[in-house]
Amino acid sequence: MKAALIEEKGGDFIVKEIDKPSPAENEVLIKVEACGICHSDNFVKEGAFPGIEYPRVPGHEVVGIVEEVGSNVSNWKTGQRVGVGWHGGHCFECEPCRRGDFINCQNGKISGISYDGGYAEYMTAPKEAVAGVPEELSSADAAPLLCAGITVYNALRNSGIKAGDVVAVQGIGGLGHLAIQYANKMGMRTIAISTSDNKKELAKELGAHHFINTGNQNASEELQKLGGAKLILATAPHSDAISSVVDGLGIDGKLLMVAATGEPIEVSPMQLLMGRKSAAGWPSGTAMDSEDTLNFSAMTDTKPMIEEYPLEKVNEAFERMMNNKARFRVVLKP
Ligand SMILES: [Zn+2]
Ligand SMILES: [Zn+2]
Repeated sequence: MKAALIEEKGGDFIVKEIDKPSPAENEVLIKVEACGICHSDNFVKEGAFPGIEYPRVPGHEVVGIVEEVGSNVSNWKTGQRVGVGWHGGHCFECEPCRRGDFINCQNGKISGISYDGGYAEYMTAPKEAVAGVPEELSSADAAPLLCAGITVYNALRNSGIKAGDVVAVQGIGGLGHLAIQYANKMGMRTIAISTSDNKKELAKELGAHHFINTGNQNASEELQKLGGAKLILATAPHSDAISSVVDGLGIDGKLLMVAATGEPIEVSPMQLLMGRKSAAGWPSGTAMDSEDTLNFSAMTDTKPMIEEYPLEKVNEAFERMMNNKARFRVVLKP
């Protein structure tokens, strides 16, 4: 089969023929129809994830058709359309797993990092890492929802917000453009925060009721004029920008971070303790969370804005994502 792989740390993608995998007893074999490119795939390129082995095929926003199932798989059938996200399987035996907290499995696997992912014509995945895909969504539209989509959808729905609450989305990019749609469709008073007016019209089209341009407005003051945010979902990985919106939180407001950056943010205890405010993070979710994300997206007609590339052009496609040129997610088709 054809696959795009990284052969060594720091290397470019090489598209070549490798052996088609076959499913182990607890795995399914998926014929890939679409695979989104995520910024976290750069962990594979740069060798930035502990224990990564080469060669490795990245890709954790995968949609395809089940072609074969292992002998111990009864919940997936040949011909079914399925997806695989970041959470690539769990052990069922560690303490978090015994508590049903699979996303925090101590032996958890990550698709496209622990094993080969979806930048290929085929991939295998453990049966517990597989989500069903509703027929209303095209494979290319569904793919980015398996990482970008689930991350913001699952963060929003578990944050404690209630219909009508002021919810601000900081950053309008791969995650943010989906978060604005979800927040609107969950019934929130949705505020988009960006660094210029370039995305103002788009933000309104996506469902933002208010738009704050931090280039000429103070986001915290503007949020306070709206009563203070119950939730600020930080989706752009710029720590200065995240730090600058903390004072926009209202009583019991929460700054929830889903943007993956190692840069520290700056928050003083004083900023949080008056008004019982908090700052927290959220990981993506399990395959069941993925399925919920896909079903909610189908029900509410939420779609990512995507650019499609053939697998052969993976290096060009990856550059567009890395240079922040893509509007907003890039999807590979084998
Ligand atoms: Zn991702
Ligand atoms: Zn476990």
